[in-house]
Amino acid sequence: MEKELQVYVDGVFYQKSQAKISVFDHGLLYGDGVFEGIRAYNGIVFKLKEHVDRLYRSTHMIMLDIPAVISKEKMIEIVLETLRKNNLRDSYIRLVVTRGVGDLGLNPKKCPKPTIIVIADTIALHKGDAKKDGVTAMLSWVKRDPVDATSHEIKSLNYLNSILAKIEANIAGVDEAICLDKNGFICEGVAENIFIVKNGKLFTPPSYTGALPGITAEEVMKLAKKLGYDVKEKNITPYELFNAGEVFFTGTAAEIIPVREINKRVINSGKPGLITKRLMEEFTKLVQDPSQGILIYK
Ligand code: PMP
Repeated sequence: MEKELQVYVDGVFYQKSQAKISVFDHGLLYGDGVFEGIRAYNGIVFKLKEHVDRLYRSTHMIMLDIPAVISKEKMIEIVLETLRKNNLRDSYIRLVVTRGVGDLGLNPKKCPKPTIIVIADTIALHKGDAKKDGVTAMLSWVKRDPVDATSHEIKSLNYLNSILAKIEANIAGVDEAICLDKNGFICEGVAENIFIVKNGKLFTPPSYTGALPGITAEEVMKLAKKLGYDVKEKNITPYELFNAGEVFFTGTAAEIIPVREINKRVINSGKPGLITKRLMEEFTKLVQDPSQGILIYK
C-alpha cells in the first residue's frame, strides 16, 4: 500500500486522511490567514528563506502574531522536517498560517492561537505540452483587488478574486485568466505574475497595481538582466499585451509558462519566443543551484 503523506499541523504530523483543522478556524470561516507556495527541486528548497520572509511580511500586515518560539529559522526547519518525513526531494509545498480557532464572529481578537500547516505534495498546473507550446489566456472582467482593498500584495487565504477569474477562463475554454487593475492596466494572472517582451525589452506591471510581488518574477528579472536584457516595471495596456512580441507567466507552481494567445489574438508567431525560451532554460539551471535555496538534507 502506498504510504500516506504526512501533514504538519501545529507541531504534530498526521497522515493526510487524518490531518484536520477545526470548523471554527477563521482561515475557513473568513479566509483570515496567509500562505506560501514553495518548491523543492532535487533536494533544494528554492528560495525558502525568501518565501518565509514574505510569509512574515503578510502576517505583519494582517497583524497575525506567530508565536515568538516559531522564529523564521524555526519555520524553515518545520518545512524541511515535513519534506524529510515524506522522503521528498522534489515537491510543491504549501505553508499556511491561519488566524486560528475563534467563535462565529469575525473578530480576530477572539482567536488566541494561529494554526500552522505544512503540506508537502506535488502539483501539475497544465498538461505536459504547456511549457513547449504555450498556453491560451483571456483578459478577465474580474479586476484585481486594488492595494487599498484585499490586495494580492498580501498572500492571503482570500483567493475568490482569482477564482472568479479562473472560472471565466474555464467557461471560455482557455487555460488562464489575466486580471486588470482598477485602472484597466494589466495586473497579473490568477496565481502568476506576467511579463511582456517588446523590441527585446522586458516589461512587467509594478506591484502598486495590486499584484503579488512574486519571488519567481524577481528571479526572472535578475536572470534577464544578467543575460543583458533591459527589464522595467511599467503600466501595460491591453493593446501592448495583444501586440507584444512575447508574453509569459511566472510563478512558483507555473515556473515560466509562455502565453501563445490572448482573447483569440495570437501573440506574434503563436510560438514561445526566443527570450522566453532562454529564460526558461536559465531558470531550470537556477533552481538546481544549491546556493539558491536551502538543502533538505545537510
Ligand atoms: N500572483 C499571485 C496572485 C500568486 O498567487 C502567485 C503565486 N504565489 C504569484 C503571483 C507568483 O508568485 P511566486 O513567484 O512568488 O510564486
